[in-house]
Amino acid sequence: MKQTDVNNINVECTDKLAQETIQKMIAEAICARKNSYAPYSNYQVGAALLTADGQIITGCNIENAAYGPSNCAERTAFFKAVSEGIRDFRAIAIVGSPKGDVLMQYAYPCGVCRQVMMEFCSPSDFQIIVAQAEEDYRIMTLMELLPEGFGPENLH
Ligand SMILES: [Zn+2]
Repeated sequence: MKQTDVNNINVECTDKLAQETIQKMIAEAICARKNSYAPYSNYQVGAALLTADGQIITGCNIENAAYGPSNCAERTAFFKAVSEGIRDFRAIAIVGSPKGDVLMQYAYPCGVCRQVMMEFCSPSDFQIIVAQAEEDYRIMTLMELLPEGFGPENLH
């Protein structure tokens, strides 16, 4: 995909969510990141998941001394929501950087989290916001981050 195409898609996505909503989600993700438990990687992540009815469910990454049981911020948010009976989602905001208050990079979701999103979200509609500040973010659809993904539709 050419760079111009990517820019066009970003503009379209930004139009779908109100600027105010995006900034609120980023603020919630930054707040959730404060609860990150990452004593091993020192990489702290926060996420804010927007439900279809307008709720924001947050999550942080939670590491473990055995490494394997560690969980990403995005999946923490998804599993919190699903465990409360919520399965319809519009977007997720993600902030992640090495330990400290300064966000110094865009933290894109890992492959496992993209697959979890694929289970519950429409790839062409679900929006993923990666941010370094409330005014500094990028938006992509799940389709862009997980093209040709395998999901529930494959089993119907
Ligand atoms: Zn992940």
